[in-house]
Amino acid sequence: MKEGLIIFLSCEYNFLNLMSKRGVLVILSGPSGVGKGTVRKILMELPDVNLFYSISLTTRPKRPGEEEGRDYYFVDKETFQKNIDDGNLLEYAEFVGNYYGTPKDKVEEMLDEGKNVLLEIEVNGTKKVLAKMPDAVSIYLMPPNFGALESRIRGRSTEEEAIIQKRLAKARMEMELAGDYEYNVINDDVNRAANEIARIIRERSA
Ligand code: 5GP
Repeated sequence: MKEGLIIFLSCEYNFLNLMSKRGVLVILSGPSGVGKGTVRKILMELPDVNLFYSISLTTRPKRPGEEEGRDYYFVDKETFQKNIDDGNLLEYAEFVGNYYGTPKDKVEEMLDEGKNVLLEIEVNGTKKVLAKMPDAVSIYLMPPNFGALESRIRGRSTEEEAIIQKRLAKARMEMELAGDYEYNVINDDVNRAANEIARIIRERSA
């Protein structure tokens, strides 16, 4: 009888613990064109990774194929500034002439609900998030070599040469900071890289 009660209480404790467990914040960075978006899509389809993707605000113009509220919230500079002033952003950064920022409330809400939250952000934003939330897992996705990256950036670009050059220069600079991340994952094959990241998230949220 006593044993039964102990087992019941211990099960209930485990259940409540599971219910109240906060999710893990996962930061994924990598140079433009490394394939973060493709890796993310694979991760989002793995139910046990339990991932919520945080959609950023940006002042960058929409690219063909991108959708408002799915890829980004596309806003003008005034709206972006208002979000900074109102304290709505967990972090923000400038990248090749445009601003990008992470809405704070949604991230907190999803973590509280026990979801793991994915931020796909650049290196300066990562530093700001890690300063505020040191338990976040940081992952840098690397291209197998720089040539592969250059052809991807050029291949998908609808942007003019000067912007492409800026993105390439920025990619070289960013890749030197990969060592500041807890994990470096090489995107030699998208499925392999996504599985490696999935394993990291499962381990950290176990
Ligand atoms: P893209 O213009 O190629 O979509 O993004 C440019 C860079 O901005 C990428 O490295 C992307 O990960 C980063 N980025 C996207 N959203 C955010 C954000 O909310 N904050 C920061 N700091 N970087 C972001």
